[in-house]
Amino acid sequence: GLAAALARRRASFGAASVLFYDRPIHMARASGAWMYDVDGRGYLDLYNNVPCIGHSHPAVAEAIARQAGILNTNTRYLVDIVHDYAERLLAEFPAGLDNVVLTCTGSESNDLALRMAEAFTGRRGVIVTELAYHGNSSSTTAISPGSRADRSVPAHVRTVPPPEAFRSGDADPGASFGAAVQAAIDDLGRAGFGISALIIDTIFSSDGVYAAPEGLLVPAVEAVQAAGGLFIADEVQPGFGRTGQSMWGFGAHGVTPDIVTMGKPMGNGFPMSGAVTRPEILTAFCARNAGYFNTFGGNPLAAAAGLAVLDTLKGEGLLANASAMGAHLREGVRGLCGEGSVIGDVRGAGLFLGVEISRPGTREPDGAAARAVINGLRERGVMVGATGPFGNVLKVRPPLCFNRDDAAAFLTALAEVCVPLAR
Ligand code: PMP
Repeated sequence: GLAAALARRRASFGAASVLFYDRPIHMARASGAWMYDVDGRGYLDLYNNVPCIGHSHPAVAEAIARQAGILNTNTRYLVDIVHDYAERLLAEFPAGLDNVVLTCTGSESNDLALRMAEAFTGRRGVIVTELAYHGNSSSTTAISPGSRADRSVPAHVRTVPPPEAFRSGDADPGASFGAAVQAAIDDLGRAGFGISALIIDTIFSSDGVYAAPEGLLVPAVEAVQAAGGLFIADEVQPGFGRTGQSMWGFGAHGVTPDIVTMGKPMGNGFPMSGAVTRPEILTAFCARNAGYFNTFGGNPLAAAAGLAVLDTLKGEGLLANASAMGAHLREGVRGLCGEGSVIGDVRGAGLFLGVEISRPGTREPDGAAARAVINGLRERGVMVGATGPFGNVLKVRPPLCFNRDDAAAFLTALAEVCVPLAR
């Protein structure tokens, strides 16, 4: 049973065993937007952005199995399927972003992006948001204040508040964000580091989910590029169609990144990631580092999985579905806002929603109520996480095959768990 599984987990993984929920779920299998525990109980998965085309999608399962039986080795050979994938992926980016380096995890792609920016600009200073998470390696934990108990960053890193508008009432969050970034650029200059890069998760997942208004990132990115720094768009969370209108979160913001990093949904669970950039940036990096080698990054198996993801996103019309179902969900959640409700706001883009849980009738964040909502949803078979500085923003990001029945199941459960919390 559950206790035995938990004991095995703890015996092997010790202190590093981090699980979802105080009473973790003993999972057995998954399909579409649903996961099933060992007793066959279903859970609607709005928690995880990895299975973007749907859990255990047969297109990916078959592509991996097929390629594993043909060829899979390190990346020092000419292999057609790898070239096919690189070309297909790069076709999804604006002109100029013409090279890709394939890696294995989001952390690795961000680590590489930081090193590329440093090689190209000759500077070290990096700007991130207050609760940013960009990875678990030495260089990326240094730019991930959200992953540290004291939210500290080293001397070459500056943090800026995210473009929050719900609580602050800021009428122009993009302009305020740009001004904060400009101040950080100036400060890095005075400290002798200079600006190497601004790196932003373009949906601000760990800061509280901010996606609007259109053009939100323009002032900040213009300030950085004018100062000779690079803009790195971390697309690990919003990438591969989650925001609906575009393959990438930056697509709606009217900016062109110098480097784009991606991971999680890229292989629908197959561990693969990448960094896309301009050829001159990659050239500067390789000149300084005697090239780049990654044993597993972009191997034939990864290429097969990645191609199946791109084919399915297009073939099943999943961007359009993300857009339509996202609008449907936001409308449904908005219907639960208002007088006496703990749901204070709903925002986001496509199938990445942020639902603000606040004290009824106020804009005060209520982390305790958010935890009650999350646990109540779990009891009703719906999995949702929370984010933001107060842990009060529900992070809703189901697989992009999410349908109207799934939406109805979520909205019904959400309405039920919010009733006892209302005033
Ligand atoms: N960037 C962002 C925005 C992320 O959310 C994450 C993972 N949570 C990462 C980077 C790191 O990716 P990985 O865990 O694959 O190294």
